[in-house]
Amino acid sequence: MDERSESMDEGAGNGEGCTEGACCAQGVGEGAPPTALRRDEAGDLRIDAGFCLQFLRDVRDVAFATVDEDGLPAVRVVDVMMVDEGRLYFVASRGKAFYDQVMRTRFVAIVGQTSDFRTCRLRGPVEHPDDPAEQRRLVDRVFELNPSMAELYPGDARYVLEAFFVEHGQGEYFDLGRYPLLRASFTLGGEPVERDGFVVGAGCIGCGTCVDACPQGCIVLGEDGRARIVQEHCLRCGRCREVCPAGAVEAR
Ligand code: SF4
Ligand code: SF4
Repeated sequence: MDERSESMDEGAGNGEGCTEGACCAQGVGEGAPPTALRRDEAGDLRIDAGFCLQFLRDVRDVAFATVDEDGLPAVRVVDVMMVDEGRLYFVASRGKAFYDQVMRTRFVAIVGQTSDFRTCRLRGPVEHPDDPAEQRRLVDRVFELNPSMAELYPGDARYVLEAFFVEHGQGEYFDLGRYPLLRASFTLGGEPVERDGFVVGAGCIGCGTCVDACPQGCIVLGEDGRARIVQEHCLRCGRCREVCPAGAVEAR
């Protein structure tokens, strides 16, 4: 299953949505601005976490994945209600399975996609302010920023909702609408960088088989005669590993 399929949600929404969100994905800007991108010490492309949080807020209706009480995956569409001081906020009503799952596992995986196949995903621990006064303040703030919520939860009904936020985690930005694709990772709140994908090891004999096989054209032969994967354009499909006659392509 490729990233486009992974990022598809189950559709129906959980009722914490907004009636103004359906068109929001069309309005997210045209791509990651160069100012949001940089290279880390390993040469990998990184993207500003704040840009990605705002991207998810602009998409608004995004898929939130959790784990249910049987240990099975569960997913639904939930609104990103606000982004503030490096935190991504969402709400859930106390009667929903989503609320129970978040309270039990305190962890979510989030993904949002625009109609032109730009995607941000984020996974990390969830914080839940326990103070009732703080909960009311946050719910009121959410309703200020998302006026259509008052139609779903008029009057004091809003206080059946509770606010949660994510301020630590790992994520990635993808632009799958261009060729070759662009990908850049980010860290929210200072967690260590997780690296995935493939690298070419010392066993490379420079035959070029992987260069021809790569669907994104993102393998180059260096002056040392060895292949190198340009990580920011890599699909992580693994074809290079399958075709390499020397077994030189390794997961990292
Ligand atoms: S995993 Fe290998 S074959 Fe697939 S896109 Fe990346 S470099 Fe190319
Ligand atoms: S197929 Fe394997 S040995 Fe050949 S260039 Fe690619 S990594 Fe090197």
